[in-house]
Amino acid sequence: MSQIGFIGLGIMGKPMSKNLLKAGHSLLVFDVVPEPLAEVVAAGAARGESCADTAARSEIIITMLPDGPEVETAVLGPDGVLEGARKGSTVVDMSSISPMVSQKIGAACAAKGVDFLDAPVSGGEPKAIDGTLAIMVGGKREAFEKAQPILAKMGSSVTLTGDIGAGNVTKLANQIMVACNIAAMGEALVLATRAGLDPEVVFNAVKGGLAGSTVLNAKAPMVIGRNFKPGFRIKLHQKDLRNALLAAESMKVSLPFTAMAQQILMALMNGGKGELDHSAIVTFIEEMAGIEVKRPG
Ligand code: NAD
Repeated sequence: MSQIGFIGLGIMGKPMSKNLLKAGHSLLVFDVVPEPLAEVVAAGAARGESCADTAARSEIIITMLPDGPEVETAVLGPDGVLEGARKGSTVVDMSSISPMVSQKIGAACAAKGVDFLDAPVSGGEPKAIDGTLAIMVGGKREAFEKAQPILAKMGSSVTLTGDIGAGNVTKLANQIMVACNIAAMGEALVLATRAGLDPEVVFNAVKGGLAGSTVLNAKAPMVIGRNFKPGFRIKLHQKDLRNALLAAESMKVSLPFTAMAQQILMALMNGGKGELDHSAIVTFIEEMAGIEVKRPG
């Protein structure tokens, strides 16, 4: 089995790296924050000293970091992955970042004889823990086939969607659908609550029909239960929609609903809600109506 390096042990990276350990892989891990690093080392991984050191001792190097600037620092920066990576090794960036940044990093890797895949995920922490993420990959088929068995230990669906950057375009498409779906759900439940209905009854009545969705099933109970513990943070979703709008602008594509959702997410961040779950998009609509979506009585 290949030696795997794993960089970025946050909400997602920690359970994903633990699943690779459970599957019997030899793992070398690194994070700039000591606590999660110590936890994954205690679970059986070896400790990398830096991004460069982790890359130098691995054949496949996975990164799971917040956004493009962090991936650029970790891969291209001083003491970064490309300072250590051996020719013929493969970097798999599983962070959700701009497809244009993926292409820039892919070109820098190619110049050093290192393969690159962008492989962002959908499913959040519960699916990261279960190893059932949806993984959307961009890159060359040969590199994909090498990484696929490893990715399959973290996800139940692993799809090659095109060349480098295609994984992140697919992820942005996913994030647009999720944000607009939550916002529409918020408007629907605010209206029903204002009309005097029990939002849980409304949710149960519609979930088997055309409006039913994985988003509705996951997020409506959180809103009705007033539980906004992340999950997927508002500030990360704002970042994803910003990346979607930047990519859209570069292709002269107009995304009016995405733009509105991104502005709502920004307003929520400015209101101190950036660390809440993205289901709290609903609170923006609640504030405009002066009502909370909750069960009567
Ligand atoms: P997180 O902030 O919890 O974790 C990121 C980790 O990266 C942190 O532990 C941080 O210390 C580390 N880090 C930052 N810069 C570093 C560097 N230069 N070198 C080494 N380590 C560094 O974020 P997360 O929730 O795990 O999300 C990671 C990525 O996955 C994001 O792009 C996010 O959009 C995406 N994602 C998250 C979810 C979710 O539900 N949380 C779902 C799908 C996709």
